Amino acid sequence: MSVIELRTPAEIEQMRPAGRFVASVLEATAKAAAVGVNLLELDALAHRMIRSAGAESCYLDYHPSFGGSPFGKVLCTSVNDAVLHGLPHDYRLRDGDLLSLDFAAAVDGWVADSAISVVVGTPRDEDLRLIDTTRRALDAGIAAARPGHRIGDISRAIADVAKAEGYSINTDFGGHGVGRTMHGDPHVPNNGRPGRGLPLRPGLVIAIEPWFLETTDRIFTDPDGWTLRSADGSRGAHSEHTIAVTEGDPIVLTQRG
Ligand code: MG
Repeated sequence: MSVIELRTPAEIEQMRPAGRFVASVLEATAKAAAVGVNLLELDALAHRMIRSAGAESCYLDYHPSFGGSPFGKVLCTSVNDAVLHGLPHDYRLRDGDLLSLDFAAAVDGWVADSAISVVVGTPRDEDLRLIDTTRRALDAGIAAARPGHRIGDISRAIADVAKAEGYSINTDFGGHGVGRTMHGDPHVPNNGRPGRGLPLRPGLVIAIEPWFLETTDRIFTDPDGWTLRSADGSRGAHSEHTIAVTEGDPIVLTQRG
């Protein structure tokens, strides 16, 4: 049975510190992601920030049915053909790498979840187009997150942006409810039918997270048990925010400065 929890305006205010903290970690790790920097150093930076903020990692002990063992790190670092759940490992970033960073943490018992993709060093035009498309799809999904709409309207808004750029869409992994834990109902797929699914009401807090691959919608799990890679070796990008539906414009809790 799915349980949809709605947050009061006061609870949404209580979620803001988590959102700000998650945004600050993504800003810092993205800024630190330069040629020659090791993925393990980015994870260590995020871990230091968690400790000094008194925050709690959502990933460190995370062990869902699809994960081989507890994640053991605090940041997802997905490089090039890796797009989601990238387990940080001993790898030094190279010029032109497309890096997706996904981070979730709890502050004062409330979770926020956000992701960005960046190019390290010299970008390829194809990578910039892919990243830009995930960002615009996220913006379109957020804009659709209003009372009177349903989850399917968010899904369709995301998919329309991807399709206009010729990308296909995988719906195995998508957005989700966020609250006291990282993953709750409802599921927010990156493609769907407008007017279908859960009606959106003020107080619904969800992560919206479009991710696309350049030339496929198929993925496989790396032997590390976590990292999801494109089936054809093409690159992926990912953009995610945690947002709260209100009577008016949605609040982007993980907005970066
Ligand atoms: Mg995330």
